[in-house]
Amino acid sequence: MRLPAAPINIVGAGLAGALLALLLARRGLAVALYERRADPRQARPERGRSINLALAARGMRALERAGVLESVRPLLIPMRGRMVHDRDGAVALQPYGQREHEVIFSVGRADLNRVLIEAAARHGNVSVQFNQHCLRADLGEGQLSFRDGASGREYQLPLAPTIATDGAGSVIRASLAAAELARVREEWLDHDYKELTVPAASGSALERRALHIWPRGGFMLIALPNTDGSFTATLFLAREGPRSFAALATPAAVEQFFAREFADALPLLPDLAAQFAAHPQGQLGTVYTVPWHVRGEVLLLGDAAHAIVPFHGQGMNAAFEDCAELDALLANTHDWAELFARFEEARRANAAAIAQMALENYLEMRDAVLDAGFVRRKSLAMALERRFPERFIPRYSMVMFHPEIPYAEAQRRGALQEGLLHELDGAGGGDAAANSALAERLVRERLPPLGEAVAVAPRAGEKSR
Ligand SMILES: Cc1cc2nc3c(=O)[nH]c(=O)nc-3n(C[C@H](O)[C@H](O)[C@H](O)COP(=O)(O)OP(=O)(O)OC[C@H]3O[C@@H](n4cnc5c(N)ncnc54)[C@H](O)[C@@H]3O)c2cc1C
Repeated sequence: MRLPAAPINIVGAGLAGALLALLLARRGLAVALYERRADPRQARPERGRSINLALAARGMRALERAGVLESVRPLLIPMRGRMVHDRDGAVALQPYGQREHEVIFSVGRADLNRVLIEAAARHGNVSVQFNQHCLRADLGEGQLSFRDGASGREYQLPLAPTIATDGAGSVIRASLAAAELARVREEWLDHDYKELTVPAASGSALERRALHIWPRGGFMLIALPNTDGSFTATLFLAREGPRSFAALATPAAVEQFFAREFADALPLLPDLAAQFAAHPQGQLGTVYTVPWHVRGEVLLLGDAAHAIVPFHGQGMNAAFEDCAELDALLANTHDWAELFARFEEARRANAAAIAQMALENYLEMRDAVLDAGFVRRKSLAMALERRFPERFIPRYSMVMFHPEIPYAEAQRRGALQEGLLHELDGAGGGDAAANSALAERLVRERLPPLGEAVAVAPRAGEKSR
């Protein structure tokens, strides 16, 4: 590596920015990290952002690469599958995978971010400055503009090189778009979300090692466990229309809606109406940006480049994978322009694939998990994986448990597998179909072996579970 010793700016010390600062510092680079929020080691976490997240193998692998996985581990709660709550109150667990390690982890955003910032700030090569609001990037002048939160003073810094990890609403992305250096398309869903807390006293009624879902066709409620015994529930619902946030304008309407749609969740939310009124209603969307970099001056990374909808639980995982990829490329790159270009080349197809799969997963979560055909094909997919482990891995498992399979490859093979599942299901389905000669022929014809990497790649944290 022959990159200059001058510091690199990272704007945004969220999940990706903090991890990236640590990875670059470990490579010997000087990093100046700027964050508009207060120092989370001293301040209370900001409210209203998603409180907990699902961490899966891709994210864990990146944390391991940065040497912080062991510090993060105490924050993690394993979730073995989806606990589906139907309208009658019946619950059924749909396991995510079929091996001991095939679980995902609920983790608090604020705690995870704090651990990453602590690790980065401890490194001698990193300087972290909080309460610094980036206002814009000016590529003509070669400057980054900031406002200091305490004094209100505005000041400029030399721009190059800067990595923008300032999230889905990135001002640096907006600066590139305004200067016609990037084309940006933001596609908003017509569904919003609202988070509600199930207090620890009520949370004991829910199985802790699962992600709970109340799928209702067109909308849903989910809940993930927190380390203090509480759960964070999220309602995903249309913005307008007969069943929508707009229709829940009064406390009575909210209570009635929950009583009708989520009767078994209602007793878990003792102060439902008050929370509903107080908590913000968030928007969900996908951000498409081309290109992600301008020469060796600016690179967009994580949500700033490619924010996605949260239904595959992969936005943070993809952002962490971005960090790991950039770090890997640093090993034999000679200048920032080459590094940024190679990064974009390596990640673009994968970011597009997970964006699309995340949109598809919304339909799966809110509708398909209730569909008998879906449940049948899911169990057929698991049976095929048991019979042909080197060729058939369910798409969900490829995305969540197999970081050695790039997202784009998981999407490509997933499409082939979906066709095959429908054919076998049509021919009878179940274990008999998985064990049939037809299955043998179709799998061998259409799905080449995934390669040694899948069988032998160590998975982050596998040894301790
Ligand atoms: C409801 C919801 C649920 C989700 N669930 C999951 C999940 O289960 N699993 C998963 O993997 N992903 C999930 N995600 C996605 C995940 O939150 C993001 O993909 C992830 O946070 C991206 O990390 P990031 O560092 O790119 O951006 P962020 O985490 O948003 O960090 C951006 C940082 O930049 C700072 N910043 C912003 N603007 C400026 C500025 N102008 N100047 C200085 N600093 C600035 C912010 O304060 C913040 O600290 C979810 C998202 C939502 C909305």
